[in-house]
Amino acid sequence: MSTSKETVLSFTKEELSKLVKPSFRAKQIYNWIYVQYADSFEAMKNLPKQMREELEEKYVLNPLQIVKKEQSSDGTIKYLFEMQDGKTMETVLLRMKQDELDEDGKLIHHAKYTVCVSTQVGCKVGCTFCLTAKGGFTRDLSAGEIVAQVLSVKKDNEIASNRRLNIVYMGMGEPLDNLNALAKAIEIFKEDDGLCISGKRQTVSTSGLSSKIDKLGEMDLGVHIAISLHAVDDELRSELIPMNKAHNINSIIEAVKRFPIDTRKRVMFEYLVIKDKNDSIADAKKLVKLLSDIKAKVNLIYFNPYEGSEYGRPSREDMVNFQEYLVKHGLLCTIRDSKGIDISAACGQLKEKTILNEEKS
Ligand code: SAH
Ligand code: SF4
Repeated sequence: MSTSKETVLSFTKEELSKLVKPSFRAKQIYNWIYVQYADSFEAMKNLPKQMREELEEKYVLNPLQIVKKEQSSDGTIKYLFEMQDGKTMETVLLRMKQDELDEDGKLIHHAKYTVCVSTQVGCKVGCTFCLTAKGGFTRDLSAGEIVAQVLSVKKDNEIASNRRLNIVYMGMGEPLDNLNALAKAIEIFKEDDGLCISGKRQTVSTSGLSSKIDKLGEMDLGVHIAISLHAVDDELRSELIPMNKAHNINSIIEAVKRFPIDTRKRVMFEYLVIKDKNDSIADAKKLVKLLSDIKAKVNLIYFNPYEGSEYGRPSREDMVNFQEYLVKHGLLCTIRDSKGIDISAACGQLKEKTILNEEKS
C-alpha cells in the first residue's frame, strides 16, 4: 500500500460528525462502513459526490491488507495483516460453535464467533514464555488499526453485520500499554450504526499493569478484564513476567477489587500452567487463598510450546488435578482448549511475519 493517510476507522461517530457536515452524514458513513461493508468511499451513493471525493482524498477506508490466511481443522482462522507502513500483525477468528441445523436443514443456532485482536506490533513486557515477546517491541497500533481487524474479519467471512460477536484483546501486545488507542477502539466498537459490540462482549486481557487497570476502570467503558496471573508468588511471577517487579501480585489484586464490574459477573484470572513450574497442588492451594475474597473464575491454559521455548507443556492429568483442587475449594475453573494449535493461532503463538521469515532462513 503506497498511501499513508489516516483511516476513517479511527473516528468515533461524534468525531466524524465534526468532520462532515451536516452531522447526519456521520451516521450514513458509519452505516456504509460497518453495516454494508462498502469497499470504497465512491460506493457510498447517498453522499454528495464532492463529499465522497474529499473523503477519498483525505482518508483511507481500511488500513489493512490480508497477506496470509490460515484455516485450522477446528475452524479457527488466523490472519496476517499488513499495515500502511508495511508492518504486520496477526488476528484470529475463533468459531466457538458451528451452525446447528435441524433434520430439515433449518438453522437452530448460529455459530458463535470471537475475534482475538492485537493491540501492538510486538510487546514491551517481555514475558519469558511468550513468543510475541521474542521479537521485541515495534510499535503501538492505532485505534483504526484495532477496529479494522474486526471489520476485515467480519467482511472476509461474510458474517452478517447484525450478528453479534465477542472481542478478546488477547492477540499480540499488552493492551493497557496502549491505553488511549485501546479505549478509543472500545468506544468505536460500541457505536450503534456501527459494529454495536457492547462493553460486556469485550474482554481486555492484561499482564497486570495495575496503575493502568485503575485508569481503564475510571474510564468506565463497561468492558471485562482478564488478568494473566500465571503465578502465585512474586518470585516466580517476576521470573515469568519481568514487569511484576514494578506491579506485584498484591497491587494487581487490589486494582481488580477497585475495577467496576457488573456485580453478576466474575473477573477472569488466566493461569498458564507450565510443567514443573507452577503446576503443583501447593500452587493451587495458594491460588485459592489469593482469590478468596474476589468474585473470580480461573481459566487454566496449557503452556503451548514453540520451537526453542524453555518450558514444557503439562500433562492432561496434572491439569485436571489442578482444576479439581480449585473446584473442590469453591473456585470456578475451566481448562481452555487450545484452538487453532495446528496453525499456531493459539495463545502466545502469535508473531510477526518478519520473525517468521527470519526463522525460516
Ligand atoms: N498481553 C496480554 C494479552 C495477550 S497474551 C496478556 O498477557 O494478557 C494472551 C494470553 O496468552 C495471555 O494470558 C498470555 O499469558 C498467554 N500466553 C502467552 N504465551 C503463551 C504460551 N506460550 N502458551 C499459552 N499461553 C500463552
Ligand atoms: Fe506481552 Fe502478553 Fe506476551 Fe507478556 S504474554 S509478552 S504481556 S503479549
